[in-house]
Amino acid sequence: MGSRRRSQSGLVTTNKLWTYPRFIQSILQIGLIIMSEKYDVVVIGAGPAGYVAAIRCAQLGLSTACIDEWTDDHGKPSLGGTCLNVGCIPSKALLDSSEHFHRVSHEFQNHGIQIKDASMDIKKMLARKDKIVATLTQGIQGLFKHNGVINLHGHARVIGKETIEITDGKQKRTAQAASIVLATGSRPIELPIVPFDGTRIVDSSGALEFQRIPKRLGVIGAGVIGLELGSVWQRLGSQVVILEALTTFLPAVDRQIATDAERLFRQQGLDIRLGANVTGAQQSGKSVSVSYSDNGGDHQLKVDRLVVAVGRRPYTEALFDDRVGIELDDRGYIKVDDECRTSVPGVYAIGDVVRGPMLAHKGSEEGLCVADLIAGHSAHVNYEVIPWVIYTDPEIAWIGPTEQQLKRQGIPYRAGMFPFAATGRALAIDNTAGRVKMLAHEQTDQVLSVHILGSQASELIAEVVVAMEFSASAEDIARTVHAHPTLSEAVHEAALSVHKRAIHRAN
Ligand code: FAD
Ligand code: NAD
Repeated sequence: MGSRRRSQSGLVTTNKLWTYPRFIQSILQIGLIIMSEKYDVVVIGAGPAGYVAAIRCAQLGLSTACIDEWTDDHGKPSLGGTCLNVGCIPSKALLDSSEHFHRVSHEFQNHGIQIKDASMDIKKMLARKDKIVATLTQGIQGLFKHNGVINLHGHARVIGKETIEITDGKQKRTAQAASIVLATGSRPIELPIVPFDGTRIVDSSGALEFQRIPKRLGVIGAGVIGLELGSVWQRLGSQVVILEALTTFLPAVDRQIATDAERLFRQQGLDIRLGANVTGAQQSGKSVSVSYSDNGGDHQLKVDRLVVAVGRRPYTEALFDDRVGIELDDRGYIKVDDECRTSVPGVYAIGDVVRGPMLAHKGSEEGLCVADLIAGHSAHVNYEVIPWVIYTDPEIAWIGPTEQQLKRQGIPYRAGMFPFAATGRALAIDNTAGRVKMLAHEQTDQVLSVHILGSQASELIAEVVVAMEFSASAEDIARTVHAHPTLSEAVHEAALSVHKRAIHRAN
């Protein structure tokens, strides 16, 4: 665990362009495109995996182009992939707006603030989200320019080991590259029995665009997207029913945390129905009737809008000619080794299109790694230290195995626990739900995992990620000064509690 890492400096490139001043570089680069379109590296896909890889390659002195086909609602190219356009960023913008609305309506009274009849202007909320997306996607354009990454718009297809065909409308061109990075991301899975219609039955992107608050919202899948986007509309006033096929709520999450979270989400009004086997959906007038069965028999659920959020699949459509020899695994992911090399020398693949969690930061880290490898440096991604966050209220964040997984693996551990309700800051900000749970190795005391349910869990987990990256022990965290009053004191106390030394609760 904790093995690191890649060198941060050094330039290994065959391209002499990079010894010229920047303005001459730009002129010569334009010349290059027109004449030959030859690059050291071509990255396909400008999501958080691809754009990070491209910028880092350019920083390392490699002539780099990044090809992306994404267009916004007005048909304009928009960089940033799923994450910036229809994923991480817009969903968090709506989560924030809806949380404010919820607090105004339900929690401000506790502070003595009286606001009568608060209402939500959905168009304004969506416009705010769109503005944030535009700022960030244009920001990537600026970063490309600043770093000298050539941005090409269109659909890319690898037609030879070093040759890429780019199609933009009717125009076709080719580019040559010594190294190719595939970062084409993922797409929502469509259920054949509940096909998307883009209006009433939608994927996650559709659920970011409802122009009115649906009175009754159905969600298929109680995973990350179902819970986050279900929460958005529930806070704004929708009656939300989530149909989940599994009988266990959030199976990847530590049981204690998942059980607490499920109880809190139900209290908030999310109607989560586990063990629901969806058998079809019929549109009638302005509603959708979803049929499903569970232990209690067959049921019909009538809703105004239905979000299908049952996972995402790697996206490799028309990405390469089979003769190039790029292999997929049996689940459709591009096959790679531990350092993101595909079956074809010189071709790498990163992000959602390869194995591992479909998380933006995991893809970005792989992007940094392959850039260094291409530049001739050693590099490595520490897959054991990747944090997860679910942006519900309270948030859920974790890193490392659950207590159940440790038990199954026979790894001896000690558990430390601390509830937010016992911290002054949580009381002061009226956010006392949840706890921090730390699991450390029984003999070495090394922190094995941390599971947080609580306000700002997404931020609190960062401390633990750093600690685990440096193979810290619970004692290390326990001996680290944490500012008072902060929520981070709950992490500190959980570490103390591993050795039954918590101060602000009975051990
Ligand atoms: P993508 O972001 O999917 O980018 C791939 C890019 O490649 C796209 O721009 C696509 O147009 C382009 N492309 C594909 N094929 C071609 C081709 N042949 N030629 C040219 N271009 C091509 N993750 C988090 O870590 N935190 C979150 O909070 C979070 N929230 C999310 C919320 C939602 C609603 C969704 C849907 C996802 C969320 N994710 C989140 C997941 C995150 O968005 C993905 O893990 C991340 O975007 C993957 O990055 P990527 O670069 O691999 O692929
Ligand atoms: P998910 O895998 O998190 O959840 C899908 C859920 O749908 C699962 O619980 C699954 O059991 C259920 N399901 C599958 N088929 C079903 C069916 N036929 N009927 C009922 N339920 C069914 O997938 P997601 O929520 O679509 O999100 C996709 C990925 O996007 C996530 O895995 C995550 O990697 C990424 N994402 C991350 C974040 C974040 O980091 N905060 C946010 C959103 C998305």
